[in-house]
Amino acid sequence: MTYRTEESAWVQVAPAAPVAGAQVAQQRSTAEYRALDAAHHIHPFSDMGSLNRSGSRVIVKAQGVYLWDSEGNKIIDGMAGLWCVNVGYGRKELAEAAYRQMQELPYYNTFFKTTHPPVIELSALLAEITPAPFTHFFYCNSGSEGNDTVLRTVHQYWITQGKPSKKYVISRKNAYHGSTIAGATLGGMGYMHEQMPSKVEHIVHIDQPYYFGEAEAGMTPEAFGLARAQQLEAKILELGAENVAAFIGEPFQGAGGVIFPPSTYWPEIQRICRKYDILLAADEVIGGFGRTGEWFAHQHFGFEPDLITLAKGLTSGYIPMGAVGLHERVAKAIIEHGEFNHGLTYSGHPVAAAVALANLKLLRDGKIVERVKNDTGPYFQQLLRETFAGHPLIGEIAGAGLVAGLQLAEDPKTRKRFENGGDVGTLCRDFCFNGNLIMRATGDRMLLSPPLVITRQEIDELVSKAKMAVDATAQQLGLS
Ligand SMILES: *Cc1c(COP(=O)(O)O)cnc(C)c1O
Repeated sequence: MTYRTEESAWVQVAPAAPVAGAQVAQQRSTAEYRALDAAHHIHPFSDMGSLNRSGSRVIVKAQGVYLWDSEGNKIIDGMAGLWCVNVGYGRKELAEAAYRQMQELPYYNTFFKTTHPPVIELSALLAEITPAPFTHFFYCNSGSEGNDTVLRTVHQYWITQGKPSKKYVISRKNAYHGSTIAGATLGGMGYMHEQMPSKVEHIVHIDQPYYFGEAEAGMTPEAFGLARAQQLEAKILELGAENVAAFIGEPFQGAGGVIFPPSTYWPEIQRICRKYDILLAADEVIGGFGRTGEWFAHQHFGFEPDLITLAKGLTSGYIPMGAVGLHERVAKAIIEHGEFNHGLTYSGHPVAAAVALANLKLLRDGKIVERVKNDTGPYFQQLLRETFAGHPLIGEIAGAGLVAGLQLAEDPKTRKRFENGGDVGTLCRDFCFNGNLIMRATGDRMLLSPPLVITRQEIDELVSKAKMAVDATAQQLGLS
């Protein structure tokens, strides 16, 4: 067959033999896949020039917590894909649910005064799984669209309350809320804002509760958590409470580096939201569906949001789906006010809903969340802390359940960070990659978020591979 390479030359290629280790018949050689990928595929969040020069790794198969690439390498996935494959790879129940639903009713909309069994069953199950006040769910295809929906919903809510001046939404720097225009504006990633000349209006940011990186020397985590939460109060007073609609935050920041706020932070945020009558939205896209050992991360931190954004673990990534859960008080206002002018062709898609349903039943009936809370979560957290105790390169281990952030630091004792922290993170990430471990780097923090079905033995492997990569990084920097 023929295809165009990066240099736009037409070349002839022969079909490749299947690769050992990958049980699916592989249609092409790694070199062919790379050339075609470079020729025709733009990757998300990537420097395509440099990626095309080095070549992508081609992932061809997955089972449990392992991936296989086109060269036959077996890789342990410390990131559950992109924080989403909570039930692990290769679950037949989800594939069968999709297959059955595609045969029965592959698609129908929920616009025309119509509904269908999968979306009904999913909504009822979500109402059961989420804390009691969450009675209603709106569906979309991703976390980004979920946060767009949160914006639409909070504005509609305040209109129903006769307070249309409440328009500002307060978010945080170094937050991640997705990559639609609204999602990226809500997020606090500077580089994403720079790319966008026009942003969504009425969105402002306060500082993040990142103790290791931003607390002054001598300040306790508790005092720092309170101080960062009180920035919300100051911002509300600056804007005028009558102009503020909502505050949104990830219970713990995921893409921002698995930053766990001090224990004082969320109770104070909640107090301030209640005091000034501001809706509180929790972006549970990563934290939801068992990641911390609770069903939802806001339960881990002990606060009660008015809206929750769901995606990723909702379907364990087997098929795209997002949702927003509404507190009954918000739901009631939306329901009683007449038309809500928001919807997507695939809102409540029957196949996605059927897969979500099968996924949630696996999580619930397999007692997977309980296992994270009582067994594998504590085991993982303790093993990480023991393994890296006193390590010359590790400043803190943050996390709970099966999510962790490892802070790389020049001097762990004084919380001194590297000038070129991003390079150190990339160096460590590359050692992981070469050691067949997927551990992500965000700046100078290394992130782990494995499938929730990981066993103790697989945790041992994951942590020992992480240790090898961190040791190799320290050695390269002359720190060990
Ligand atoms: C991934 C993520 C999103 C965006 O979800 P997409 O499905 O990529 O649009 C939003 N919020 C958080 C916290 C996320 O981690």
